[in-house]
Amino acid sequence: MIERTLAIIKPDAVSRNLIGTVIQRIEKEEIKIVAMKMIRMTKEQAKGFYYVHKDKPFYESLTDFMSSGPCVVMVLEGENVIERYRKLMGATDYKKAEPGTIRKEFATDIEKNVVHGSDSKESAEFEIKYFFSELEIVGK
Ligand code: UDP
Ligand code: MG
Repeated sequence: MIERTLAIIKPDAVSRNLIGTVIQRIEKEEIKIVAMKMIRMTKEQAKGFYYVHKDKPFYESLTDFMSSGPCVVMVLEGENVIERYRKLMGATDYKKAEPGTIRKEFATDIEKNVVHGSDSKESAEFEIKYFFSELEIVGK
């Protein structure tokens, strides 16, 4: 089934000039980018995006980090893309990520882990709408 997911190149990766590297990994997997822009989230916007984690001990630090510099946000489209992109990213904790995944190769910290990807259809729907209007998503 063709689905969409929300991907973010996080501030650590943007500041380390890894935008092209991440995009190259995505395109190599034959995943289509159907929307893309650079943004700088405010603290409030980061808190809204990560609302599901509001009770976690890392919420404050994570939302400080996500609002610390520009991000690239993208909508990805493809067969089973939610799971495929999660696999390409690797585990949240880069130390536990599979070799060859983006996080294993480039993350420096459990928080500063280079990329974000939606974890379910429901979160993808919420997260895509958080950053993009339907008009900004390019169809075939
Ligand atoms: N995070 C953190 N400490 C943790 C777990 C997560 O700083 O112990 C950060 C990390 O940047 C992660 C984000 O919070 O990507 C969201 O956590 P989640 O469990 O949703 O991981 P993800 O879906 O990004 O793999
Ligand atoms: Mg998550």
